[in-house]
Amino acid sequence: MGFVWIVGAGPGAADLITLRGSRVLSQADVVVHDELAGRDLLALCRPGCEFHFVGKRAGSHGTPQGQINRLLVELALRGSKVVRLKGGDPAIFGRLNEELAELRAHGIPFEIVPGVTSACAAAAAAGISLTDRHLASSVVFVTGHECTKSEFDRIDWTELARSGQTLCVYMGTRRLPIVAEALMSGGLPSSTPVKIVANASRANQKVYDGTLADAPSLSAAVTGEPALILIGAAVRALSDEAVAGLAGEALPH
Ligand code: SAH
Repeated sequence: MGFVWIVGAGPGAADLITLRGSRVLSQADVVVHDELAGRDLLALCRPGCEFHFVGKRAGSHGTPQGQINRLLVELALRGSKVVRLKGGDPAIFGRLNEELAELRAHGIPFEIVPGVTSACAAAAAAGISLTDRHLASSVVFVTGHECTKSEFDRIDWTELARSGQTLCVYMGTRRLPIVAEALMSGGLPSSTPVKIVANASRANQKVYDGTLADAPSLSAAVTGEPALILIGAAVRALSDEAVAGLAGEALPH
């Protein structure tokens, strides 16, 4: 019986994987990876390591999930040390449950190694904090993807429009205009800051700045690249004076 490590690769930069992730990757017999898991990481693997690419190639859909699940089982039953390398953190919009269910059904031992999710990498790239003592006391990870119409409709955007939280929208750039409309009709001001970070942590990282009112042009500017949308009052980078003011308030005089 082999073993499966489901490893978070982080957002793209090869040195944003955890030490544990990099250790298991360097000991793997087989790596099953997709396009979000940085290519440079595969260089950590030992010579002779077998690779299975299960992501999307330009113009084609990815390997069907059922096929990936079966592949993991097959490789583990053959006795291999398998790493399933997933972009960001495996437990955030990574279809982890489907893979786990299949492994459990076959009694295959596994371990999940967490990774830096792209919302955190995007906040770091944009130089902002997702929480703020004055502006945001909660953070929401939400999908903007129309996977099935019902999934999108299931999201209560009016509820998400509650102020005092930061929204991190994954897979949302195409539908940003619709999301922004829904949030504004839920009560968020059109001046609410929005930042989009494309390719966070990679060499081609780019940060787009605007407000909910700019949603259509922001959406048009970011096409076809992995991008994370950050929405909320805390998303506006504070000026140095404002930061100094907040610090002054917190410190005893
Ligand atoms: N498990 C991943 C998310 C997979 S869903 C994680 O934890 O990050 C795929 C979405 O993640 C993309 O559509 C995009 O919204 C986001 N994403 C992944 N890598 C990114 C990156 N380097 N920069 C910005 N967004 C990224």
